[in-house]
Amino acid sequence: MDRKVRVRFAPSPTGALHIGGVRTALYNYLFARQHGGDMLLRIEDTDSTRFVPGAEEYIIEALQWLGIEIDEGIGVETDKNTHGPYRQSERREIYHEYVKQLLDSGNAYIAFDTPQELEQKRLEIKNFQYDASTRLMMRNSLTMSEEEVKAKIESGEQYVVRFKVTPDEDVHVHDLIRGEVVINSNILDDKVLYKSADDLPTYHLANIVDDHLMEISHVIRGEEWLPSAPLHVLLYRAFGWEDSMPAFAHLPLLLKPDGNGKLSKRDGDRLGFPVFPLEFHDQKTGTVSSGYRESGYYPEAVINFLALLGWHATGDKEIYSMQELIDDFSLERVSKAGAKFDFEKGKWFNHQYLMAKSDRQLAQEFLPVLEAHGIPEDIYPLPTIEHIVGLMKERVNFVSELWEQCNFFFVAPEEYDEKSLKKRWKEDSPRHMQELLCLLQKQDDWSAQALDDLVMPWIEEQQYGVGIVMNAFRICLVGAARGPHIWEITGVLGKEETLKRVQTAIEKLTTL
Ligand code: GLU
Repeated sequence: MDRKVRVRFAPSPTGALHIGGVRTALYNYLFARQHGGDMLLRIEDTDSTRFVPGAEEYIIEALQWLGIEIDEGIGVETDKNTHGPYRQSERREIYHEYVKQLLDSGNAYIAFDTPQELEQKRLEIKNFQYDASTRLMMRNSLTMSEEEVKAKIESGEQYVVRFKVTPDEDVHVHDLIRGEVVINSNILDDKVLYKSADDLPTYHLANIVDDHLMEISHVIRGEEWLPSAPLHVLLYRAFGWEDSMPAFAHLPLLLKPDGNGKLSKRDGDRLGFPVFPLEFHDQKTGTVSSGYRESGYYPEAVINFLALLGWHATGDKEIYSMQELIDDFSLERVSKAGAKFDFEKGKWFNHQYLMAKSDRQLAQEFLPVLEAHGIPEDIYPLPTIEHIVGLMKERVNFVSELWEQCNFFFVAPEEYDEKSLKKRWKEDSPRHMQELLCLLQKQDDWSAQALDDLVMPWIEEQQYGVGIVMNAFRICLVGAARGPHIWEITGVLGKEETLKRVQTAIEKLTTL
């Protein structure tokens, strides 16, 4: 590759960054890093009606949380910011010049048709499209004299600038993922490039001008922009920039879990999983949408999960660090077909990353959860908490779920699980527990081995059945038929607490 790789992530600040947008940012980042190139962040805020306050800050925070680093543009203080401003609303003057260039070269024209007039035409003409076949019926600078146009503008009449698409031409877009895409220009309309009403260009013009001025080498973006790509190619040509036109790569859509259609925000609400990286408080609607961060995901797990939604390397390796992704990523291996959003797989990834952490690290993460449940800080020494976490981590996908799994280590059961009682608490259980209590009271060595050596022979001698006694014992300590090995539980609880729980259970459950 002879040209310096420069890619950009160019979101519009219209709300929370959708997880599909995060994947686009990630693929751009991986590509930039692999080629020693630059990753830019540009904010495309030319549609002021869709602007959502806080959206830009949200995007920056989300990328930071995920470890997607920006080299140039919005959100970074760097002397590399030589191609700014990077917020399109601050680039009005620049766009004026390029709108003028297209008008002067005859590649664009001024149009005065009002929304009502356009609506009227749509009613009159079936499948009306503003293009070579209709433009000469409309109120624009192609059908009016220069003086007339000038007078209208001077009198303050609103207008738009439209691109003059040459009809009946095959436009070729070379896409790095899809190969050659050919579209006939007849299906393209004369897109609006600029609106005098807000003195701003539309997405298409701003996007092409900026990519050119910011020396973007590769445009990696979502598939929803593929239909716009031929127009973009024509714009590059109209500007005379075809030689330095960036390469295109349109990424496959993220699909609903069942594969039927594009993943939307509503799917997340409906199926109970986040579609945003961070929780989002929509100030306009007052609604809150859940985020991966707040749901307890590790950013590395989200990155790994997203990277594999639409891309895979040659083998069946699934766990990738960011560096490994940078090394292995290739646009050629991005699939053309949409990627089903498999939320369970996302949890699986989080589990893998959780398991890879040390017990010490997990214990640190678990401490705030304990605090939130009102557990005193000094309930156990830290090594004991590490031990508990180590015992239970296999069973959870998130640190927050540890509480559900091991709360009995911290609070004695107040109630006993109905189902467990029905199945495991027998008529003889109170008597068995009373005898066990007496046995344990006399025991000083509280190690797992010693307790096993004490209790097992006793059960055998009495012919009570190991399962029957131990399950009842478990219900006394845990409140249900769950938890790790019984001697792990007694080991953490200690003698006093163990005996207390057995005593309480006998009292509470004898009357049943
Ligand atoms: N502003 C567009 C978006 O929100 C960017 C499309 C592009 O990357 O060209 O997706």
